[in-house]
Formats: sequence, structure tokens, C-alpha cells
Amino acid sequence: MKHVIPKTYKEALEHLSEGTYKVLAGGTDLMVKNRSWSETPARFKQDMLYIHNLDELRYVEDKGDHLAIGALTDYETLLRHEAVPKVLKDCLIEIAGPAIRKVGTLAGNIGNASPAADGVLLLYLLDAQLVIERKGARREALIDDVITGPGKTTLSNEEMIKEIRLPKSTFTKTQFLKVGGRKADAISKVAFAGAVRIEDGIVKDLRMAIGAVNVTVVRLREVEKLHTGETISAVQDSIVSIKNAYVPHIKPIDDQRSNRVYRKRVAFNMIEDFIMNMHIQD
Ligand SMILES: Cc1cc2nc3c(=O)[nH]c(=O)nc-3n(C[C@H](O)[C@H](O)[C@H](O)COP(=O)(O)OP(=O)(O)OC[C@H]3O[C@@H](n4cnc5c(N)ncnc54)[C@H](O)[C@@H]3O)c2cc1C
Repeated sequence: MKHVIPKTYKEALEHLSEGTYKVLAGGTDLMVKNRSWSETPARFKQDMLYIHNLDELRYVEDKGDHLAIGALTDYETLLRHEAVPKVLKDCLIEIAGPAIRKVGTLAGNIGNASPAADGVLLLYLLDAQLVIERKGARREALIDDVITGPGKTTLSNEEMIKEIRLPKSTFTKTQFLKVGGRKADAISKVAFAGAVRIEDGIVKDLRMAIGAVNVTVVRLREVEKLHTGETISAVQDSIVSIKNAYVPHIKPIDDQRSNRVYRKRVAFNMIEDFIMNMHIQD
């Protein structure tokens, strides 16, 4: 088994092109998954590519119409950056604790592809585009098209995420709600992110994303679109049909953190609460 620390991003892509390596960024998921007895090396089962030295992937750049976030940018840096949207910061401050946030990355949150991942929930809400590269090739994809199930993505063994792009948007209200077993350092039992832009009483942009209730984050763009352009009261009068539209998609499981009955009830309460209070600004 090989353990490689590339000096440059180009070199990282060279190694990845062999198709046998697993990328390790902050390691906050991978080290836990491959943990071993104290003072013994982690039990990795494949060649490892440690990319934490690649400072060229650590940046937050305002590109006018979008914010470009380098794949190795840690959560603490994002929390302190003025250009990072408030709703994303509201989420990041609730991820783990300071030590994990100092090394954990959004790219790692995507790569781990947990249905309960908090960062990923916000990337769905913000229509994040991922810049994915392999040696000699590059593609861009919407977050929804990259995560396909628990621990599953469309990333091939030769590819890695280089950058996360957040299109600029203006909202009149945003909300991030995380229900965990304790106030801090908890994995979500269920989580909700909502954003709305209301102009002259008309809903111009409506977004809701729900985490830990299905195999991937639930975001129903067709339902959001259906109610875009309506008055606030028209949207609120449709609350029953809006909730009904989510019924086939809110399919949580029982696990060590929670159960399906509780998750379902909380998820629907969060949807209703956001819709019925979307005109009340923070
Ligand atoms: C104590 C603790 C608390 C936590 N709390 C939370 C929480 O509240 N909310 C939450 O969502 N998560 C939480 N996590 C999980 C974890 O911190 C996050 O998922 C984090 O974002 C992972 O980032 P990383 O850089 O450490 O990923 P790594 O562990 O380095 O990698 C994770 C996966 O992503 C892949 N990967 C990493 N970078 C790239 C890249 N550039 N391109 C392609 N694939 C890549 C890796 O190959 C691997 O499959 C917690 C973890 C711990 C240990």
C-alpha cells in the first residue's frame, strides 16, 4: 500500500490517474472510519493521497457572479470570511467543534456523502457547482448530480473536487435548523435549510433543503418553482399541498441517532414553520 504526499496539485492529479488512490483532505471522516488502536497507524485499505499540503487549493475568491472556494479551504476560514453567505456560516458554526472545523472541508463533506452532512445541505440550498478535475480533463456539475446515495458520488477514482462555486443570490430571509442529540458537536438527526426572496409581497425565489430524511438531501425544485411568482398569502394558503408534495421524499430511517417517526414529524414541522414565517425577517 502506498502513502503519498504530493507537493503540487498537478502531481496529485498524476497519482490519481493511476486509479488506486483515496484522497485524504482534513481526514476528519477518513481517520474515524479507518481508526485503529491508540498509537498504531490508521487501517487504510487502499493507497492514500494526503492533499493537506496543497495550499494552492486553499482560497475564497469573489468572482462577481459567484464565490469560488478552493477544495482545501477549512470551515474556520469560511466562517471568518466576509464574502461567505450568512446562511452557510449559520450552518458551519454548528458543524463539530473548533478543532475539527480547523481541518474539515466542504469537499470532504461532499466526498463522504452522508445524508446527514450539514455542509452538503447548504450546498444544495445555494445551488453549488463543483469543479471536478482529473489529469487532462475538467467537468462542472451541480451538487445534486454528484451525490447519488449514502457514501456514493459520481466521482471516479481518478477525479477530485478542485473548487466549489456558489452563485451569488440575495435573500430576504434564510434559516438553518439542526436537530441533534446535544447543542454542539452533534451529528444531525434531521436538518433544514431554507431561503426566500420576497419583493413587494411576491415570492421571487423559494428554496428548501432537508437533510437526514432520505438517501440524499431532499430539495424539490419543481415545487419551489410552482410557487415562485405567487403572493406570500397564496404560497401560505398552499401549505397542505406543499407538504403533500414532500410526502414521497421524506422517508427517514431508524438508526442510533433517531427514529423515522420523529424525523418525519420534525421535517414537516420545519417546512411548515419556514413557509408560514417566510415574510417575518430575522
Ligand atoms: C467529532 C466530529 C464531529 C463532526 N461533526 C460534523 C457535523 O456536525 N456535521 C457534518 O456534516 N459533519 C461532521 N463531521 C464529519 C466531518 O468533519 C465532515 O464531513 C468534514 O467535512 C469532512 O472533511 P475532511 O476534509 O476532513 O474529509 P476527509 O475525511 O479528508 O475525506 C472525506 C471523504 O471525502 C473525500 N475527499 C476529500 N477531499 C476531496 C476532494 N477534494 N475531492 C474528492 N474527494 C475528496 C475523501 O476521499 C473521503 O472519501 C464530524 C466529524 C467528527 C470527527
